[in-house]
Amino acid sequence: MHAAPDKEPLKPSNFLRQVIERDLEQGTYAQRKWAGHPADAQEHQRGEPDPARIRTRFPPEPNGYLHVGHAKSICLNFGLARDYGGVCHMRFDDTNPEKEDQEYVDSILDAVKWLGYSWDANGTSHYYHASDYFDFMYRAAEYLIEAGLAYVDEQSAEEMRHNRGDFGRPGTDSPFRSRSIDENLQRFRDMRDGKLADGAAVLRAKIDMASPNINMRDPAIYRIRRATHHNTGDKWCIYPMYTYAHPIEDALENITHSLCTLEFEDQRPFYDWLLDRLSEGGLINKPHPRQYEFARLNLTYVITSKRKLKQLVDEKHVTGWDDPRMPTIVGMRRRGYTPESIQLFAERIGVTKSDSWIDYSTLDQALRDDLDPKAARAMAVLDPVKLVITNWDEIHGAGFLDACSAPVHPHDEARGRREFKFGKELWIERTDYEDVPPKGYNRLYPGNRVRLKYGHVIECKGATKDAEGRVTEVQAELVPDTKSGTPGSDKVKVKGVITWVAVADALKAEVRLYDRLFAVPQPDTTEKDFHEELNPDSLTVATAYVEPSLASAKGDEKFQFERHGYFVADRKDHFSTLVSTSERKPVFNRVAGMKDSWGK
Ligand code: ATP
Ligand code: MG
Repeated sequence: MHAAPDKEPLKPSNFLRQVIERDLEQGTYAQRKWAGHPADAQEHQRGEPDPARIRTRFPPEPNGYLHVGHAKSICLNFGLARDYGGVCHMRFDDTNPEKEDQEYVDSILDAVKWLGYSWDANGTSHYYHASDYFDFMYRAAEYLIEAGLAYVDEQSAEEMRHNRGDFGRPGTDSPFRSRSIDENLQRFRDMRDGKLADGAAVLRAKIDMASPNINMRDPAIYRIRRATHHNTGDKWCIYPMYTYAHPIEDALENITHSLCTLEFEDQRPFYDWLLDRLSEGGLINKPHPRQYEFARLNLTYVITSKRKLKQLVDEKHVTGWDDPRMPTIVGMRRRGYTPESIQLFAERIGVTKSDSWIDYSTLDQALRDDLDPKAARAMAVLDPVKLVITNWDEIHGAGFLDACSAPVHPHDEARGRREFKFGKELWIERTDYEDVPPKGYNRLYPGNRVRLKYGHVIECKGATKDAEGRVTEVQAELVPDTKSGTPGSDKVKVKGVITWVAVADALKAEVRLYDRLFAVPQPDTTEKDFHEELNPDSLTVATAYVEPSLASAKGDEKFQFERHGYFVADRKDHFSTLVSTSERKPVFNRVAGMKDSWGK
């Protein structure tokens, strides 16, 4: 019985959705059986009707931290499976014996879970390793040899490269191509048994040395490599090539739609060739998985090469893989991006069949759209200068603090109110005062009236400066009977509204103002070394004053600082309350501004 999806997906369509919908309509995969785990033809055939309507997979190599490009692939594979009553497998593509790092495995599993996806479905954990299929892959290779479809080539690497030909020149048959089946089988077993040196021979599929597609010119499918594998130890000294392993992994796992990036397009004929041969031999079932290619994500101002991201970490251009400027999933998480915003971003960019650059503002807009209805509001002064209300004592008496409040969320009164004080001394933004107002400036300048949001209207009287001409204090007078929310308070009309916090109850905080890590829109696309394209001002640290409600902020909690944008309490460095015995301050990261500033 097939589980039907809860409801029709309301997502914008794309070519992959069309392919899947067509397959579901035609029942392309409706007859498949599932052994309950990855298996060969016979075992699956003895199984139950496959409870998954489609199967996709996310197959990372555990050789680095995942980045925003992988996030696109995760959202795509897990998202399609979820939307169409399918299952997405979490599969580590560990066919390379190179030592796998547990740190990477853990971080990859964490990232997928954090993004909101699960590989548990129908009572099964679909968590697999390609290396679990080494025995089958070996058996399939012997089958190919026995069917006259593979041979052991002992040309040197140099000869092999030369004889492969190129785009304009067909390849030349290897002198080993016409070996007998028995000899091939013997030599392949010699390879397996460690009788040949690393690199002395490869097993090649026997296809067509004159094929216009170079990938079909007898591709290597097994190589000799004496290396201890994290999963299979020293059992093997031969390892399957990626192009051979991947279609087999998909077939054993009953994958229906195998999604990969465009650079694999030329590999598709071999993918299909191999699965056709293996099903002819009865090793795997039909219908086969099909490979579909989509454009990889290129995001402006961002580099997504794992190798180069590692360089940034190793060379300490950033503080680590989770530096909030990094496009890694751990970095984005710490920066304050939410799983929902990343999913929304992935949906909005969709999938296409041609490469293009996505503007970074698309990601920030998804973040704003996600956080706007959720994030609690707060006032914060990022570049503080003191404002003194000169007639305060006269009106209210010295030391008086006036209780003010504001909604936690302007569109959701049920979330309650934030409380803070208004007093004689306040912190305001340095940019909210000018001696001589530029055209259109409605904030503080001598003689002008503005409203201190949620507080009172004041009239600016002037400012004090230091020897360098820098403002050290702004003075203003309170306009009586103008307190926000009191009857008649709106009788005094003002054009400007500014944010503030009271010196008496503001909390000192460290704010980390992050900007793009690279200064150019398409980094690492020219001859220029990408180091030269780094933005020297990608991080500004400021000491800010924030309203007292933020004393209870928890690490990872997101806020909208009114007028400034979205901020998150740093998950690593944040302290939820001020520790009186030390200088430790809460730390907030800016995720994104209130409006798009990427285009400017
Ligand atoms: P890198 O080249 O950065 O090392 P990779 O492709 O080698 O990345 P894998 O671990 O093999 O990394 O990738 C796992 C999956 O994520 C693959 O299916 C791959 O196609 C996909 N993927 C990797 N980078 C991107 C990207 N920029 N956009 C979309 N998908 C991507
Ligand atoms: Mg790869």
